[in-house]
Amino acid sequence: MAKRQLAMVMDLNKCIGCQTCTVACKTQWTNRNGREYMYWNNVETQPGAGYPRNWMEAGGGFDADGNLKDGIIPDMVHDYGVPWDYNHDELFGNAEETVLKPNTDPVWGPNWDEDVGEGDFPNSYFFYLPRICNHCSNPGCLAACPREAIFKREQDGIVLVDLDRCQGYRYCIAGCPYKKIYFNPKISKSEKCIFCFPRIERGLPPACAHQCVGRIRFVGFLDDEDSQVYKLVHKYKVALPLRPDFGTQPNVYYVPPVLSPPKFDEEGKPLEGGRIPMEYLEKLFGPEVHKAAETLLSEMEKRKRGEESELMDILIAYSHADMFRLDEN
Ligand code: SF4
Ligand code: SF4
Repeated sequence: MAKRQLAMVMDLNKCIGCQTCTVACKTQWTNRNGREYMYWNNVETQPGAGYPRNWMEAGGGFDADGNLKDGIIPDMVHDYGVPWDYNHDELFGNAEETVLKPNTDPVWGPNWDEDVGEGDFPNSYFFYLPRICNHCSNPGCLAACPREAIFKREQDGIVLVDLDRCQGYRYCIAGCPYKKIYFNPKISKSEKCIFCFPRIERGLPPACAHQCVGRIRFVGFLDDEDSQVYKLVHKYKVALPLRPDFGTQPNVYYVPPVLSPPKFDEEGKPLEGGRIPMEYLEKLFGPEVHKAAETLLSEMEKRKRGEESELMDILIAYSHADMFRLDEN
């Protein structure tokens, strides 16, 4: 049990799907040595199959009695997608080759279904869902490991793999319902997001949060009442865990995308409410999403009337420095 818990909040109303976070993570941690296919941070379109494909249906996590549920290990070709290269050498060095093409025949990959979403014009909808390991308080990966190779750091609750203990059995991958732990075939061990702990120890936020163009990511300790993370999660209760029904008690929270464009009737007139169905948001974020939506919309109205709203000021994210509170680690 960790003494303190670091958490991240992501405001989905502001994510533009630019993948800057993904690139920041990939260039720092996963572009080499068997990690090429891994995305410790990915940003997927929802509704959608996501990455790895159909991860929400891949099992793991806990049932209502606290028992670990069976899960699958996603397939490299059909669920993750083998990273491919292009025929640049042939194209630029051979006059007969005129088409740029991948050197494999991919059938799936990250963002394969980007921007597809659901619904019909003019009421189609989608939103971006950035995902990292949730550094869960009750991690399915940890519970599934017979080698006790996965642990939570006492000082901040970051979940790490002890590579000296890991034997590459991959039970952790089946046990994680978010499929955010990966097998590295080059070293035969499991690896995952480390919440950029070397940066955290220097008082810096993880690279994905630091680079986020949309300023959607807040980082801080859940017991630090002055942190914006605390205010979003506990004070205003507008930041919710993803798939709380998986039972792992995630420590990444999301402000749900309730500020979507309106639906239109057959004559093209706007209707009341956002376009993303609340039932879908309830599936992702649990029943608390209704109260969170009410709070967000009423605080937004207050701000429109020119009244004070601490919540809206936090979410607008005027100051990058205020979004991260790590010094007390
Ligand atoms: Fe483990 Fe998955 Fe939770 Fe990360 S998200 S701590 S890999 S169960
Ligand atoms: Fe979304 Fe920020 Fe990542 Fe861009 S950098 S995709 S805005 S989370």
